[in-house]
Amino acid sequence: CGIVGYVGPRDAVPVLLEGLHRLEYRGYDSAGIAVAGEELQVVKTAGRVGDLRRAVPEGTGGPVGIAHTRWATHGEPSDRNAHPHVDSDRRVAIVHNGVFENSDRLRNRLRAEGVELASDTDSEVLAHLVARSSADTLEDAVREALSRVEGTYGVIVMDVARPGELVAARRGSPVVLGVGEQEMLIASDVTALVRFTQQVIYLDDDEIATVTADGYRTSTMDARSTTRTPTAIDVPT
Ligand code: GLU
Repeated sequence: CGIVGYVGPRDAVPVLLEGLHRLEYRGYDSAGIAVAGEELQVVKTAGRVGDLRRAVPEGTGGPVGIAHTRWATHGEPSDRNAHPHVDSDRRVAIVHNGVFENSDRLRNRLRAEGVELASDTDSEVLAHLVARSSADTLEDAVREALSRVEGTYGVIVMDVARPGELVAARRGSPVVLGVGEQEMLIASDVTALVRFTQQVIYLDDDEIATVTADGYRTSTMDARSTTRTPTAIDVPT
């Protein structure tokens, strides 16, 4: 339903919780965040963003993170089905809006390869596919993983082994980048990021972006780079 990402000098946790709070009006059944400090910290819960806020342990924090409000399509609303989802080594974390139509087939194939799935969602496969890719960059790993899914997505992917960057991509589900001063945000809806920046880039379908604190790079799913400049939005903050 809603996605938010942050990378920059602040603690990602309050920025992500504020972003989720701004997305609440769209409706959802669960919420969660993942933050990369020294290791991956994931907190997720069925219920409200306020419940999530109370569930975040003291000391959770880091300069990069992702967050989600879920409107369940595959798997009941529950703590374990809430996003973010992680791979078996807890290295890669993902949030996903939309539906992976071929998830049953992908789940069966992963199980046959010995992967233990931790949720009933269509989305979880993305974390495992990215983690199992041998691509050199996170962006290429995400590109490879997304080439295997059918359906719609707005996604953000984080890898604790590649600190300080997030990869976002879209097909049929909106993703907007927020360009700040030495910080970057990503969201499904501009309302989640207007408090932090008014400079935005709406990704096109089949576009993928790598963002770090000091910038962003965009390209097509078939790896042709695209040139995108931010535009100013005029929304009350
Ligand atoms: N299909 C995914 C799920 O059921 C994502 C739903 C959403 O867009 O919130 O977990």
